[in-house]
Amino acid sequence: MQFIQPDQTAGPWDLVVVGSGFGALFFLHSYLQRHPDKKVLMLEWGRHNTTDWQLEQFQNSDIPPLTTFTNESPKSWNFTIGLGGGTNCWSGMTPRMHPNDFRLKSLYGRGMDWPISYDDLMEDYDWAERIMLISGPDDMGKMFPGAGNYPQKPHRMSAPDRLLKAASPDVFFSAPCAKLSEAVEGRSACCSNGSCSLCPTKAKFYGIDNMTFVFDNPAVQICTGARVRYIDAAGDTAKAVVFESGGRSYTVPAELVVLGANGIHAPFILQQSGITDGAPGAYIGEKMLALVEIFLDGLEHFDGGTSTTAVDLRYVDGPHRAEGGANLYWSENSFQWSGLRLEPPNRFREVLPVAITVEDELLADNAVVDTGGDLPKVVHAGFSDYAMQGLQRAIDKVPEVFAALPIEDVQFRRIEPTTDHLQGSLRMGTDKATSVVDPGQVHHRVRNLVVVGTSVFPTTSWANPSLTCAAMSLRLGRTM
Ligand SMILES: Cc1cc2nc3c(=O)[nH]c(=O)nc-3n(C[C@H](O)[C@H](O)[C@H](O)COP(=O)(O)OP(=O)(O)OC[C@H]3O[C@@H](n4cnc5c(N)ncnc54)[C@H](O)[C@@H]3O)c2cc1C
Ligand code: SF4
Repeated sequence: MQFIQPDQTAGPWDLVVVGSGFGALFFLHSYLQRHPDKKVLMLEWGRHNTTDWQLEQFQNSDIPPLTTFTNESPKSWNFTIGLGGGTNCWSGMTPRMHPNDFRLKSLYGRGMDWPISYDDLMEDYDWAERIMLISGPDDMGKMFPGAGNYPQKPHRMSAPDRLLKAASPDVFFSAPCAKLSEAVEGRSACCSNGSCSLCPTKAKFYGIDNMTFVFDNPAVQICTGARVRYIDAAGDTAKAVVFESGGRSYTVPAELVVLGANGIHAPFILQQSGITDGAPGAYIGEKMLALVEIFLDGLEHFDGGTSTTAVDLRYVDGPHRAEGGANLYWSENSFQWSGLRLEPPNRFREVLPVAITVEDELLADNAVVDTGGDLPKVVHAGFSDYAMQGLQRAIDKVPEVFAALPIEDVQFRRIEPTTDHLQGSLRMGTDKATSVVDPGQVHHRVRNLVVVGTSVFPTTSWANPSLTCAAMSLRLGRTM
């Protein structure tokens, strides 16, 4: 990696990239294949915290996310400020989105249609899966057209998972994930301990370790500790990026600006820049994550090959989405959110923890707000009725979905304070009155400003977003 000091950033640069998470890294990868001679400056607020540092310190970053914004909402938000962004803390779950996720408004009258389709992303989904060495099942194409060509074999399912797969082969699958099922050089296979934000075996994909072909690319110079404050734009053109470091301000002229600074800080940067077309910050949200435990009679779980072994996808799409959010069920094969069963005699493993993600509706009043201070404020009313209704349906359906198991009892545990996904705050669309960037993720007015990352998602869907974010960025980089 070629690190430079703030006073070495004067340029000139062909491209200034703000942030170094999923959106920025995958964009740069395909962009530099097409434009190997471009000079790129990466401005990253956080430090380069190696994966060994993260394990020793038991944290992903020395900048706690909660110190970077004020939160006026009943729920919390989570992310990493540091080189590699969310590729450090993420848990490596990588489902594709369903084709109908891109057509929520026209099919079910809710939310908004995406200005791109599943078909537009198919080639890049495949590419992103290869880059991240995703392990997954070869029958995934039953659910997501073209899927199933994974570079790593699927993880071993648990005993309950195997019964569920036999009963519902078309909707129940081994979970695709960026956690190795087979060791590769320098990285072990997943040992299923479930501390995936801090993976001790390096089985999980980390950008800083596994995308060195971007960080080490001779075209890329990296300045860490550089908090971008605003973009200096005139009319339809971004002229420069202004960042602060060590209490000083620096101005970097740029031909092209790629903003990949997460769903809270990217809109705040636009607000502080006075680039307020399309209401940056409005519609921030995420899907819901909830947990149930299924108590089993004589059947033991926790013998799977990774921490999240399987997914049931039967309700990720359907007419129910007109009333309440779509949902995913996943088998949790670790003790991250739940424990062993403690009643005697030895029934410790006779329980299946099931995580449920539920799509939420993004609403304009939920917003990142610039209050004139140093930090953005997030104002959010909590999960909407749409998500609550989806959750209730998902819980009611548990006996049906898991009917192949010897169910003794189902206990709802809780809604998690956050799903760790920031979405919607710089949404993409065809109408500049209701969206910030166009279908090519270019700002509707400032035409040399591109936004990457999950902030551009116009809906939450039920799916973990980072694979889709990576595929969108690859597509963008190879077409610009
Ligand atoms: C605990 C946890 C678990 C998760 N698990 C999963 C999972 O299993 N599957 C999944 O799909 N997703 C998961 N996610 C979500 C995933 O991390 C995000 O979807 C993804 O990182 C979003 O990519 P992004 O490019 O939008 O933002 P990020 O990856 O967060 O990148 C933003 C970058 O911008 C930098 N930055 C921010 N502000 C500034 C500024 N002002 N100046 C300069 N740089 C700045 C940040 O340091 C960072 O490098 C998880 C998240 C968390 C927190
Ligand atoms: S389950 Fe353990 S080994 Fe596997 S990715 Fe998570 S932390 Fe790493």
